[in-house]
Amino acid sequence: MAKLYFHYATMNAGKSTMLLQASYNYREGGMETMLFVAGHYRKDDAGYISSRIGLESDAHMFRSGDDLYARIAERHGHESIHCVFVDEAQFLEEEQVWQLARVADRLGIPVMCYGLRTDFQGNLFPGSRALLAIADELREVRTICRCGRKATMVVRLGADGKVAREGEQVAIGKDVYVSLCRRHWEEEMGRWPAEDMIGFVRR
Ligand SMILES: [Zn+2]
Repeated sequence: MAKLYFHYATMNAGKSTMLLQASYNYREGGMETMLFVAGHYRKDDAGYISSRIGLESDAHMFRSGDDLYARIAERHGHESIHCVFVDEAQFLEEEQVWQLARVADRLGIPVMCYGLRTDFQGNLFPGSRALLAIADELREVRTICRCGRKATMVVRLGADGKVAREGEQVAIGKDVYVSLCRRHWEEEMGRWPAEDMIGFVRR
């Protein structure tokens, strides 16, 4: 049976690199893949996925209200798709996660989603909530905090270089995200006194 996978992590864990490598492996073996990336924060029509180490690929864009099952089924009717990849899966709607589950269940195509688990305030994204609820396989992509512990949280640094403690779930612009362990995230967010801060706690 084909499965719905959710590879989740915090920022800068190399999710896009993993996605592009996995898609490349399929194509190298002569199989077709279909790639999606969130179009919510892009103006142009051409989607693409790029990774920090220089890999990139064209991708279809998904936006709110899109029927992903219909789009994949339509393409699959012309040429067999062997795997679907979704980057920035945290932006999927709950209904779109169900559509992807149907791609696995009814079209027999595995679907590999990659995305963030939580936002900078430690709250689940909508797509991640639905994927954590119904995906067949959950796989954590690991990265580390500057202290060496596993990083599971992310802070957002504004243009002033300070940690944002409130605001929109997604900021468009030059904000920088830094992945931290939970202990240091709480200190940066002002939820616990800074004991051994190593970073950029707001003063
Ligand atoms: Zn830490």
